[in-house]
Amino acid sequence: MNILHALSVPTRADEDAGAWIVLKIRWVGVIFGYLVVNLTPGALNAPVLNGLLGFGLAFTLLDTWYRRQNRIFLGQYPLFISFMEALFIGLLCHFDTGATSSFRYYYFLSVLCCVLRHGSMVGWITCLCHMVSWSVLWLSVSGEASDGMLGAVLVPSVLVWLTWAGLALGRSLREARDELGRLNGSLVRSQADLEVRFAERTRQLQETQAQMLQQEKMANFGLLAAGIAHEVGNPLTGVSNIVQLLQRGDHDSKTREKLDLMAGELARMRVILRELTEFGRPASRERSVCSIADLVGEALRVAKYHKRPGSRLRQPIVADNLPRVLCVRGQIAQVFLNLILNALDAAGEDGIVELRGMEQDGELLVEIEDNGPGLSELIKDHLFEPFVTTKTNGTGLGLYLSRRIVDDHGGRLEMGSGNLGGALFRVVLPSTDKTQSGSLLGINS
Ligand code: ADP
Repeated sequence: MNILHALSVPTRADEDAGAWIVLKIRWVGVIFGYLVVNLTPGALNAPVLNGLLGFGLAFTLLDTWYRRQNRIFLGQYPLFISFMEALFIGLLCHFDTGATSSFRYYYFLSVLCCVLRHGSMVGWITCLCHMVSWSVLWLSVSGEASDGMLGAVLVPSVLVWLTWAGLALGRSLREARDELGRLNGSLVRSQADLEVRFAERTRQLQETQAQMLQQEKMANFGLLAAGIAHEVGNPLTGVSNIVQLLQRGDHDSKTREKLDLMAGELARMRVILRELTEFGRPASRERSVCSIADLVGEALRVAKYHKRPGSRLRQPIVADNLPRVLCVRGQIAQVFLNLILNALDAAGEDGIVELRGMEQDGELLVEIEDNGPGLSELIKDHLFEPFVTTKTNGTGLGLYLSRRIVDDHGGRLEMGSGNLGGALFRVVLPSTDKTQSGSLLGINS
């Protein structure tokens, strides 16, 4: 196989079309040759001519076999082939009828094959070889075997013309092919560009569609929220008045603390209701620098009074060296409360809820983790959308509103899974100072 490969060279892409034309010319030549020799009555030297044509047939077969492997037989020796062809055609003519033989036209075919396959230098040398072969033939015959001076001049003249025209044709074919390649390249680039633009437009369209859907959802939600706020507002004012009246009375410290907490919670409810009423045109919120430990503590204090089935809230350990944040106090406390209550719900009886606070790259991280069953796969992808809940008495608004609040503070509310096996929620807020601190706050439910 190696020897066979050594006798050939691989075809270049630009030689492909030319190589097949050359093969066709060779096959036509061989078949024509056999027909002329064997069908002409009284042909001279038919056995010798058939033998010579056998060489031509063998060469053409080999050329075809190599072509099928995308190689050119003896492609590295083009001049050797030209020389052999000049000799081969000269011999065919010699054993046929001399300078009048039909085989003299093979000179033209051979030159044509050469210029189609090779460059101008090989083309002109081949032309020269054939002219020499023809001259020797013409000089070696006389009388009837020659068609006179005209024939002598005509063959070389046609050879020169064919070489010149073939080379020019080959050049323009190559130029046309290059131009086509360039055009094809730019067409492929434009198509790719178009596909990218199409994908980008489709993405933009999908985004706009999603935004519109979300806006519609929000508008409906706002309408509903405003309705609820209006309905709940009146009884809430009544309850607030009663609590204020009770506060004026004489009570022991525990009852007073509970009344103060009630008053605080009711005040927050009024604020939330006001915001719900104004849903869609956010009110200006006053921000203050708050200690995150205070906010977490406030949320934990309130959480104590929320009855969770089977849950037990131990006295929490609150670290006071966590970084501070610029925030609307009630809102961030509300976020922590929502997350703590959710964690307590999920953890259930004898469950564990952990709060971790740390500062990382100028951001404050508060993680609330529990050892409950984790987030349900059913709602995982829609967790932060309104009204998504798995609880029979849930509203599905806690996480949705919490994320909105955290986003408004330039932070993020993320979910993940921690080491306790349950869910983990992380509130990330920009901190106002760079105090490096970390703490673990533990409560057992
Ligand atoms: P709600 O508490 O009214 O259901 P939320 O928006 O606070 O509304 O929570 C939505 C849902 O997210 C809950 O119903 C629950 O399925 C799930 N979820 C929230 N926190 C947790 C948690 N810590 N562990 C498991 N699931 C949770």
